Amino acid sequence: MKSDAFSTLPLPAPLLDNLASLGYSKMTAIQAASLPAVLDGRDLIAQAKTGSGKTAAFGLGILAKINPRWFGVQALVLCPTRELADQVAQEIRRLARAIDNIKVVTLTGGTPMGPQIGSLEHGAHIVVGTPGRLQDHLFRETLNLSGVSTLVLDEADRMVDMGFIEEIVGIVRACPRNRQTMLFSATYPENIRKITASFLRQPLEVKVEALHDNKRIEQWFYKVTAEKRLEAVTQILQSIRPTSALAFCNTKERCKELVKDLQARGFYALALYGDLEQRERDQILLRFANKSATVLVATDVAARGLDIKDLDLVVNVDVSHDPEVHIHRIGRTGRGEEIGLALTLATEKDEKKLGLIEAYQHADLPWGKLEDLKAAPGGPLLPPMITLEINGGKREKLRPGDLLGALTGDAGFAGSQIGKIHIFEFNCFVALERAIAEDALAKLSPCKIKGKQFKMRLIA
Ligand code: AMP
Repeated sequence: MKSDAFSTLPLPAPLLDNLASLGYSKMTAIQAASLPAVLDGRDLIAQAKTGSGKTAAFGLGILAKINPRWFGVQALVLCPTRELADQVAQEIRRLARAIDNIKVVTLTGGTPMGPQIGSLEHGAHIVVGTPGRLQDHLFRETLNLSGVSTLVLDEADRMVDMGFIEEIVGIVRACPRNRQTMLFSATYPENIRKITASFLRQPLEVKVEALHDNKRIEQWFYKVTAEKRLEAVTQILQSIRPTSALAFCNTKERCKELVKDLQARGFYALALYGDLEQRERDQILLRFANKSATVLVATDVAARGLDIKDLDLVVNVDVSHDPEVHIHRIGRTGRGEEIGLALTLATEKDEKKLGLIEAYQHADLPWGKLEDLKAAPGGPLLPPMITLEINGGKREKLRPGDLLGALTGDAGFAGSQIGKIHIFEFNCFVALERAIAEDALAKLSPCKIKGKQFKMRLIA
């Protein structure tokens, strides 16, 4: 049997030490199946999904051969969405902590070109981006791919579904022929095989099962009537009292309906669906991630590719039409060592869908009774944090340390009372413990940060 220890791989010691410090004690299935060949320079076609550890599979392949002393683009990762690109860049940065001075730049749409061009001019080793924006940079000749030795197409099926074929072909052509190419795709149908065949040279093909380990996710199904569906979500929240719950709906309309209902009942709920503006999406996601909203109500499309972690609960408000999607949804809870909880509401009309899930899981569905979900004590379900928005960002050269310093310095708060800090071009967001939020606003508003006074407000 092959060993799944990272130490069996020909990786430099600092990279191995860093993996241990990240808590990656052994390789995931996709890593064990692909890394030996990847580190040997082979091309790869991998069928694997988010959550499988695929980013580290190609990330380590990239980092093993990067030359930190040469500040040209040596690796390019193409992703379908901005969220995935951000997530991939973040994971590569974590993996690269062990190597001095590796610059990872994300080039995605919806943000100004100027700063991206600036970052490229300063030198970037690794570029992670979306096809449209990458093509823009190629047209303007602000991106030079002639030094790329590793090319990754992540979620290739999705990029093709989104109609990015032409852009992808153009970008691949801008890379040298002599390179290593890795293609990751959740599915690998004939059309994608055809389109991508010319990009790859004798690729190794690996496939890992998409099924999550059932033992790590406690799953229950509940029968409801269509009229009682929204009420049942309330009952679940009152009984489980999660800090972060993701509620899946099949349609945007249902998302809107549910979020309105939950807000009216006093829950801190936000909705994420397809046609929101990038700015709104960013803000919703960060408020959920920084724990100042309890429930994120989302469609599958909107939630795809998002790395939302530490979820203590997933609620399927509607049963998915596709059993694979169901498995993917519930896989969002219980990552790592934690046991997750996934509850699904089903009406009589869902019988066929439930049959598919049952067949897919090779196990009977565990049915629970809604009556058994009693409201737990504790009053209204409040998120532990509140988000403070400050009208200044990267443009004013604000950094997390400046905000943390202002809050823990003169204002006198403890570092542990401050949560995640997100900084954008023109504004930034600081998560504050609920109990100190008003006080922090009062103390911070009159202060100067980086020599300047900023407008700020708490986002309710
Ligand atoms: P991905 O499929 O790349 O989105 O990875 C899913 C999650 O698994 C990420 O949060 C990674 O940080 C984490 N991860 C990747 N490889 C390992 C590993 N070998 N051991 C533990 N966690 C890992």
